[in-house]
Amino acid sequence: MEKLGIDNVENALQPAAVMRPLTKPLGTTDVAINYYELEPGDSFAFAYHCHEVQEEIFYIQSGTATFETDDGEVYVETGEIIRFPPGEFQRGWNHGNERVTALAFGAPLEYGETVKLRDCPACGTATNHDIERRTAPEASDEQVAFSVCKTCGSETGEWTKGSIPGEVP
Ligand SMILES: [Zn+2]
Repeated sequence: MEKLGIDNVENALQPAAVMRPLTKPLGTTDVAINYYELEPGDSFAFAYHCHEVQEEIFYIQSGTATFETDDGEVYVETGEIIRFPPGEFQRGWNHGNERVTALAFGAPLEYGETVKLRDCPACGTATNHDIERRTAPEASDEQVAFSVCKTCGSETGEWTKGSIPGEVP
């Protein structure tokens, strides 16, 4: 048995005000669990993406999440839950005025191949991206995440912990 206070888990670098990864602290072996708080403008993910192997489930505890999908935008209200099977593209946002709190589950733990689509101005279209990390130049203890177009190598976004997401300027 493992019991955990979610607030005791350190915040991770994601395009959300708060993302507490619970998988390792809980010691889960077959499911990934993350706790999210999204301020208006934040996102659950760095890109419009799909996983080859892992299915993803989002339970919205408060606020309204908006998911980009191949079928258009889907609104998930407080108390609702949504599931994406492996291979289905999605990206969740907070497009509302109220903070979104949510739990996200993914199973199995492995992703398989993940395609991360972002608009690349240099390529003029949405391309597959890598998300990489580097140390911030001003503060060596601060990590910065950035997205790199796999086609042309351009950087298309940058994020710091708890920041409003750094979409293409
Ligand atoms: Zn590109």
